[in-house]
Amino acid sequence: MKEIRPPLSAPGLAGVLLIAAAACLGSCTPRVGGNDQPMSLLLVVVDTLRADHLGPWRDAGTGETVTPALDQLANEAIVFDRAFSPAPFTMPAMAATMTGRWPDRVGVVNHDRLTSLPSNYPLLAQLALEAGYRTAAVVTNPWLARRKSGFGRGFEDWYDGEGTGSHPRRGAAAVTRQAEEWLNKNSAEPFLLWTHYMDTHMPYRPDPACKPRPGSSQRSSKVISDFVEGQLQPQEIYFGVQGYAESELEATRLIYDDALYCVDQQLGRLLATLQELEIADSTVVVFMADHGESLGDHGLYFAHDFTLYEELLHVPMMMRVPGRRPGRRPDPVSLVDVLPTLCALMKLDCPQAMDGEDLFGQAPTSDRVLFAAGPPARERYSMNPRHPVAGLAGRWTAATRSSLKLIHLPWPGGARMELYDLERDPMEKENIFGQVDSSLLQEQLRNWRRQGDQQRPAAAQSPLGPDRLRQLRELGYLR
Ligand SMILES: [Zn+2]
Repeated sequence: MKEIRPPLSAPGLAGVLLIAAAACLGSCTPRVGGNDQPMSLLLVVVDTLRADHLGPWRDAGTGETVTPALDQLANEAIVFDRAFSPAPFTMPAMAATMTGRWPDRVGVVNHDRLTSLPSNYPLLAQLALEAGYRTAAVVTNPWLARRKSGFGRGFEDWYDGEGTGSHPRRGAAAVTRQAEEWLNKNSAEPFLLWTHYMDTHMPYRPDPACKPRPGSSQRSSKVISDFVEGQLQPQEIYFGVQGYAESELEATRLIYDDALYCVDQQLGRLLATLQELEIADSTVVVFMADHGESLGDHGLYFAHDFTLYEELLHVPMMMRVPGRRPGRRPDPVSLVDVLPTLCALMKLDCPQAMDGEDLFGQAPTSDRVLFAAGPPARERYSMNPRHPVAGLAGRWTAATRSSLKLIHLPWPGGARMELYDLERDPMEKENIFGQVDSSLLQEQLRNWRRQGDQQRPAAAQSPLGPDRLRQLRELGYLR
């Protein structure tokens, strides 16, 4: 789809030189073939994928990996061990990824029937198009895929299934097939291709075109059938009202991994296509998730959106960059860093003032403060026991620095605070607020909230069509 591009806030020559200089402070990335040709980008996003189910983050002893292709990619990539989403749901997380800014600054702090991405900041695809890249996206999440979501700006080719009669929630194999078709026609020029997979989102349906994971044909889940058949309201499942047996919960977790196994196959296939087309050496591969999923952790079942614990905020992120040595990065990073990093790698003419950082442009620091915010309290989730304050004032916010993580929960009569030491207590089971000094972190989080309130532009609005309403119902968002 062709879009009219809004004027970019030009950084000017000085800004470009500053960005270029910063990009070489570490080990400077050689350009492909030494001829200074721009590098292409394959951006792979897997929706609702928590980090600890992938090889690089999986605890030893928790069984065989379900992600052999991703594990191989991790061996060739820079793996960010501590990557965090600024929001536990799709639209703000992807708004931050595509703009390099906190969602509040962009104006996307919710998803509802009307929210769309305002045009106040240029998006990755717009910047790439401006720089002469071919741009395409295969997007399957209905919040993003509807044509007026705003996320299509800058994409010459936008495959969302709309108007074709096909379901936008296409399985992983269909996404890969579409991406391969596009690559076969367009990879002779520098390109940006974004593929967004949805198979690991409830109701966890591995694409039937995938090779099934051993044992998966014997698995079934009452949780998923209740969800799909509408026996229960989604919130009765999410908040544990139904009280499923542990065996039912475990079966559902295994099916989540079956879906991941399918996505992993498709990612392997996509990476093989880069090799076959002989463009792997000129293509940056970024792999990430928008947010994680709670699989019964902290009283939340097969949902995200509602808390800010690690199962939702800690996302897998790795970047395979031609000419850059693979390795692990233990420093905390955020999805807001994706765009500044790509601006440097792809030599894009990006605005100077972003909230994120170029991850290869400066020495990693372990004490950076990262922030996150949940959604406003929503009336349709009235059974949620931990969102007692209505609207935006009721949303959770969190700040993490080093191993300390502070969560602010609005509550009638005064906010409740939770503090965790992630190094000693990675599962966030013991609230140590009041036992350890967190006054600086409290102040930083307060300031971040205040800045968000002051800077937040009004969300753009565009209504959802009947197809998207049906698809969002199938994902449990509407009833
Ligand atoms: Zn999502």
